[in-house]
Amino acid sequence: MFRTATRGGDGGAQVAQHALHGTQYPFRLNMYTEPPVQDITVEEFEGWALDRLRVLAEIETGFARNQGWPEMKATIEKRASEYLPLRSNTAATSRSGSSSQEREIQLERQRDHVSHFVLQLAFSRSEELRRRFIHAETALFRWKLETEHIAERDAFLRSQDFAWHVAPSEDQRQWREQLAAVHPRLAPTIDSEQFLLVPWHRVPDLVERRRVFVYRGTAWVPTREQLSLVIAEFQARLQDKLEATARALPRLDEDDRLMPVLEHLSMGFMAGATTDYSNAALVGADGENVTVTADMVSALVRKHAPLCMRHLHETLSATHHLRHYARLQYNLFLKELGLPVEEALLFWRRMFSTMTDDKFNKEHRYNIRHGYGLEGRRMNYPAKSCARIIMQDPPGPQDAHGCPFRHFSPANLSAALSTHYHVSPDEQQEIINAAKAGHYHVACTRLFEVTHNVARGQGLGDGESVAHPNRYMEASWRLAQGGESTTTTTTTTTMSAPPEASATS
Ligand code: SF4
Repeated sequence: MFRTATRGGDGGAQVAQHALHGTQYPFRLNMYTEPPVQDITVEEFEGWALDRLRVLAEIETGFARNQGWPEMKATIEKRASEYLPLRSNTAATSRSGSSSQEREIQLERQRDHVSHFVLQLAFSRSEELRRRFIHAETALFRWKLETEHIAERDAFLRSQDFAWHVAPSEDQRQWREQLAAVHPRLAPTIDSEQFLLVPWHRVPDLVERRRVFVYRGTAWVPTREQLSLVIAEFQARLQDKLEATARALPRLDEDDRLMPVLEHLSMGFMAGATTDYSNAALVGADGENVTVTADMVSALVRKHAPLCMRHLHETLSATHHLRHYARLQYNLFLKELGLPVEEALLFWRRMFSTMTDDKFNKEHRYNIRHGYGLEGRRMNYPAKSCARIIMQDPPGPQDAHGCPFRHFSPANLSAALSTHYHVSPDEQQEIINAAKAGHYHVACTRLFEVTHNVARGQGLGDGESVAHPNRYMEASWRLAQGGESTTTTTTTTTMSAPPEASATS
């Protein structure tokens, strides 16, 4: 269990002392040198990490969509304010003396600290996860560094024990010609510039781009490049820590409280964000939830469902049969969609048209009701999220469940896209490339955009990526209604006719 660490350094000594300096978390920025050592509950352990994961998943999606840094910064800003708010010390200054506000800021920083280390545990287990985690965390750190108040940032940097120091002026005079040659724009003022002496392997990008003078293994970095230096240092330290954590991880295997949580978290990262509950019922024009009937399922699914559910429906229609995991995936999806259990029984009975009543009642009635929480342990099972569909119970050759972007071969995916959607060859190739690169939710989100005439980057709306089949469905439905995003699960009404077609075929 975590226990709270005390932040190292007393950087505040060199700047005007802020009320938060000297507290447990004196700065908004954190190099995550020390692990937290405070007792927290398993719920906090998972909940805080899930919130951070949502921000990191959004960053990953941005990279997969080739977002530029300004666009990426805006994305991080938006998601971080939602899931990982982190106010600067200057926010507390505006109402100095407000101890409750200072406590809130400390709690935000504690959540940031703890969630970072929980995800370190979750993502240290494979080379692929480590690489992706470092990439996303470094972008998040860069955003914090660039958006921090300058005085606070300087105070933070002074509090750190970095492996560099300012070059002595006599050495700098000795190498002034070489320094001016590498930095022509600094040449006129080269004697008044300051340089930091850094081991060259700490700044591989600057060395590679020939943007530093290197002598005897030491790189001379202008202080104006200090932020690149800090980011490279953050990345290098994180890499070292993740490798050390991976070596220590087998010792955690026996903890049956934490391992399922860590597995769930890493699963979510591979598949975008992670959530089991989509909270995505269909809302009618009157603002009330739509109750779906058995008669409406085919039209709704063919017009609004994502490819995974579309494939299940077409397989069921063609073969009048689905194997166990496929039935499970589709039954829960339809339940979440708003299909009441009586209508579900009617729907499945009709679809299993080659089966006798007796066989249906013996083999399927119970399982359908079980999915609705009406049999057995009476659990309210959530519809499966993309993370679960993508990462759990991989389909065999005879199975129809799973995620087509993850489980279809490129040829089969291409055939499925051509069969079910009107997409141009270029768009199809872009989608297949994203799937091949392992960005399944990005491929699915792009398919949504091109089949709903939604601008690139808008996703399901407001930049949201696909993370749950029911959210995809709800967003498609909402667009067809011509309305804004309004998801609710509180009231119901019956709709008598299927909705208008969206842009999907
Ligand atoms: Fe279905 Fe999610 Fe795969 Fe899209 S990404 S096809 S919604 S599992």
